[in-house]
Amino acid sequence: MSAFMGRKVALITGAGRGIGLAIAKSLAAEGYDIAVGDLHEEEKVAQALQSLKDRGAEVLYCRADVSDAAARRRMLTTIRERFGRLDVLVNNAGVAPKVRADILEATEESFAWVMRINLQGPYFLTQAVAKWMIEQKKADPEFAGCIVNISSISAEVPSVNRGEYCISKAGVSMATKLWAVRLAEFGINVYEIRPGLIKTEMTAQVREKYDELIVQGLLLQPRWGLPEDVGRAVAMLVRGDLGYSTGQVIVVDGGLTLPRL
Ligand code: NAD
Repeated sequence: MSAFMGRKVALITGAGRGIGLAIAKSLAAEGYDIAVGDLHEEEKVAQALQSLKDRGAEVLYCRADVSDAAARRRMLTTIRERFGRLDVLVNNAGVAPKVRADILEATEESFAWVMRINLQGPYFLTQAVAKWMIEQKKADPEFAGCIVNISSISAEVPSVNRGEYCISKAGVSMATKLWAVRLAEFGINVYEIRPGLIKTEMTAQVREKYDELIVQGLLLQPRWGLPEDVGRAVAMLVRGDLGYSTGQVIVVDGGLTLPRL
């Protein structure tokens, strides 16, 4: 099959729920067909997949652990067989440490687990996708790939009870720059989106703590961020609205990290 027939295709990891699902919905609404990568059994995400189909997308579900090299390879093979092309990769899948432990006590096991999922997996998924995108560019000069990494304000704001998460996201930040530099000659733009406090299952455990901090003035825009806030930002990048800004960071944090006196 020609790699350049039909609608554009986006792969979003961790899109079974939360921020990833909102990104997938945004891109479906932009006219993309969608490959969803996630860990859940397909029936658990049936509603999520239907919500993408309702927006006009053809949808492929890949049950794949982003930290597993063989699973990543299988996922890309399946996408190639189904769609024959891949225009957009959004590295969104990520985890917080299972236990929030002070960095004086935190374990190597937790460090390795978080790092493999949040940094190593996406880094090597990007490597494989980049090679495929370069192939597509060589076959069609019109091809314009785009890669978006979802990091976190934790890339620059230390939380001493989840050091491994902060380090993994700081790594994602550097990975964004590396890939932006390496892929520029192929017209493949690479961006980082740095969300602040977003209302998802990941932050459900700390909802009350931050509710209170928000009331006390933590944010300039005094509300939780919503997954859709990130979804819209990704759509903007993928559309090419910031087409002359490869390698840049888009902060979606309601002003949390704006220094003030
Ligand atoms: P979430 O826990 O609601 O959703 C994450 C999804 O990723 C889940 O569906 C999960 O199954 C999937 N996933 C986890 N490990 C995976 C793996 N190994 N392989 C494939 N899929 C996997 O979390 P969320 O809040 O939607 O977070 C999405 C991304 O945004 C993460 O990278 C997170 O670090 C980042 N982020 C979240 C916030 C926030 O406040 N929620 C803030 C900044 C950054």
